[in-house]
Amino acid sequence: MSKTLYEDLVNVYEDISNTTSRLEKEDIISEFLRSIKEKDPEIIYDVTLLLQGKIFPPWSDKEMGVSTQLIIKALSKLLGEKTKTIENKLASVGDMGEITQELIKNNKQVTFFKVPLTIKKVISNLRRTESITGSNSQNKKLNLILELYTSASPLEAKYITRTITEKLRIGVGEGTLVEAIAKAYDIEKEVIDRAYMLSNDLGEVAKRAQDSLESVQSLTINPGKPIKPMLAQLSPGIKESIEEMEEVICETKYDGIRVQIHKKDDKIKIFTRRLENVTNALPEIVEYVRKALPDEDYIVEGEVIATRDNKPISFQYILQRVKRKYDVERMREKIPLKIFLFDVLYYKEPTAEESLNERRKLLESIVTTSDDVELSTMKTVTPENYEEAVELFNWSLEKGHEGIMFKDVNSPYSPGKRGKNMLKYKPVRETLDCVITGGIYGKGKRAKFFGSYLLSLLDSESGEYKTLVHAATGMDDEMLANLTERMQEYVISTNEQVVTFKPAVILEVAYSEIVESNEYETGYSLRFPAIKRVRDDIGLDQVDTIDKLMQMIELQNQ
Ligand code: ATP
Repeated sequence: MSKTLYEDLVNVYEDISNTTSRLEKEDIISEFLRSIKEKDPEIIYDVTLLLQGKIFPPWSDKEMGVSTQLIIKALSKLLGEKTKTIENKLASVGDMGEITQELIKNNKQVTFFKVPLTIKKVISNLRRTESITGSNSQNKKLNLILELYTSASPLEAKYITRTITEKLRIGVGEGTLVEAIAKAYDIEKEVIDRAYMLSNDLGEVAKRAQDSLESVQSLTINPGKPIKPMLAQLSPGIKESIEEMEEVICETKYDGIRVQIHKKDDKIKIFTRRLENVTNALPEIVEYVRKALPDEDYIVEGEVIATRDNKPISFQYILQRVKRKYDVERMREKIPLKIFLFDVLYYKEPTAEESLNERRKLLESIVTTSDDVELSTMKTVTPENYEEAVELFNWSLEKGHEGIMFKDVNSPYSPGKRGKNMLKYKPVRETLDCVITGGIYGKGKRAKFFGSYLLSLLDSESGEYKTLVHAATGMDDEMLANLTERMQEYVISTNEQVVTFKPAVILEVAYSEIVESNEYETGYSLRFPAIKRVRDDIGLDQVDTIDKLMQMIELQNQ
């Protein structure tokens, strides 16, 4: 049985926190990993998880079943403090870990350090909280963490709490850990990086790297374990993107949710891009895909969209489906779904490292398409025939889809990377120049600033400004602060969080669609408004008018 003390890991956490140098952090971790290899190799998987502040690997469905409230209850029971006192402290300090440390340090009633805590003990108690359900489960969980706090030093208790709250705060990202693992076992960083990309499991990577180079090299993608999706950069323009990639698979970009579908033996699982298991919410997708593909192990990727009369409908509907835990059958009738598949990462064997060209050919050869399961519409284009991409773009928009994607035909699938091998291109969003006539203070970190502005258009007939939309996104911290300061001189009245302004400052706001609305004086509003910039270059008489809004609606309807 592994005997490495939790204290050793806590000392590493502290050393890492005490330096801002990434290189030093890497050295501290790699030295620790080497010592583990010498003294206690079997604990490496757990150590790597705990260094990430986790107790389950990222591909796992499991979650620790302990809330902050339960930590407060445990501390209150252990130390005789009122829960209210601890809650107040949390409100002012913000870090439950610091509070745990301080409370235990200052408490004289309890004798701690009865049994030295091992890493194994900490992780196994925390893991056990996940599986406890049913009556009296809260008490059972409470006892498991109480047992840890009773044996912990104040510093250890701080990190136990931070692990439970999933806020380790030691400033170590995945990149640092990858480097540290490479250094610890003297293996090239690229080898570690590849193994991590394909397995999505740093613990497994470290364990194998500890064993041998061959072992980590043989780690690969596995059906059943979700991997991070490859991400897209923005395309600067159709022609430019095709010229840069030379040979490009150009595909319709669907506006739904991205799913990874894994089949292992008889079991099919569906994961979102955040690796949540949504299999139960999408039973028909399981059925469709089971029918459309041969009875082999595979991982395919695609976009699920909601349809009405076989036409795509707003992305909002599909969100309702994915989040649904109950009443799935009724929702299935109400919001029908279909899937467009666009990649295959495993079929009998790993395929993610083959070129996109090969993967697409494979996908075409294994999928039997239907109304429910289609392959993404695509064309292979080069700079010579880039007009075909423009055609596909126009066709895709006409069909109600979002835009197009460009994918380098020779590129492998790079899980979790946002590189130049996959680009997205959407139509330029329309904008309107609106005047600020109101504001609402933000929440939390933004409480001192106007987090959202009420924007209005000019009614040229009456010369008045009529409200159109509240816009909150698009502002960075600097803009937020500057605009709040600037708006103070235009305040007409304040009612709690809500402020009315004299029309003075003009904002350009981008949006995706104009929609009817009873909430605003114009009778319309904007979907997905995003503040682009302050228009100090134009005057109040050039604020966009309601007439212009009507023209835009006409264009939109065309
Ligand atoms: P991102 O996914 O890049 O972080 P985002 O969530 O805002 O950003 P978009 O900007 O819309 O998404 O673009 C990328 C997304 O487009 C993909 O994650 C995927 O869900 C979706 N998508 C739709 N059609 C395709 C396709 N044919 N190939 C790849 N992705 C597609």
